[in-house]
Amino acid sequence: MMIRQDESRLKTQKAMWVVFSRGKLVVDAKSQMLPVAHLTELPFLSSYIDDIHQLPPLNESAHQELPVFVVDMGAEHLEAAEWERVSLRQLLVSAQDIAFSVIGRAWQYTHFLRTHQFCGQCGAKAERVDWEMAMHCHRCQHRSYPRVSPCVIVSIHNNEQILLAKGVRHKEANMYSTLAGFVESGESLEEAVHREILEEVGVKVKNLRYFNSQPWPFPHSLMVGFIAEYAGGEIRCQENEIDDAQWFDIDRLPNIPPKVSIAGQLIAETVSLIGNK
Ligand SMILES: [Zn+2]
Repeated sequence: MMIRQDESRLKTQKAMWVVFSRGKLVVDAKSQMLPVAHLTELPFLSSYIDDIHQLPPLNESAHQELPVFVVDMGAEHLEAAEWERVSLRQLLVSAQDIAFSVIGRAWQYTHFLRTHQFCGQCGAKAERVDWEMAMHCHRCQHRSYPRVSPCVIVSIHNNEQILLAKGVRHKEANMYSTLAGFVESGESLEEAVHREILEEVGVKVKNLRYFNSQPWPFPHSLMVGFIAEYAGGEIRCQENEIDDAQWFDIDRLPNIPPKVSIAGQLIAETVSLIGNK
């Protein structure tokens, strides 16, 4: 649920602002941080007074003391020297404490509102529900909620080695990572793990162990992490998906993702698992 804000409160309330402009986030040009300000200090929002929403804290003990306000400026061009636009990814990996949960959620809500303006069933204009995060059609009563797409992500180990793959899309960065893929309709998480691994690198695994999960807002995935043991088969890379896959010794790892991502955490956990054997 996001709460529409009344104007008097907005003018007196200092807040953290998550402002989307042409697919990017507005940050203070000097500090590269999200604006923490009163509305009056953000004159470029003057025509968005009716479109400011508060992001509810995930839990009461959340570290954010300031309210978080979300605004979607859509395709509007922002021209002000004090402010810059940075990509979502850029800000997420810049490791600001607050970034991941707050920006990720704000983006998913914004994306949801943008893509559900009309009813998917009858095509009428849909309206936002005040008390929960949903869009409702008053003609046919269809209601839609933000989409969450589960994705399995898995690291595979065999004796002293870990299997890492370079996706076709990460070819340029020469980065090797864990395998990942979307769960298909009607499939369990475990079935998705076995299918993805077999499809992408042609090997079989056993002894799946749940590791951890992480919302990944590109645009609405939920990464569910597993650690698996190799059970058989030769590496055979899936065309158009995997550029290369190899078994790596843990003291000779290639370029891997940072620990802010669950992939980085999975690799670290697997490496320590192997190291402690
Ligand atoms: Zn409808």
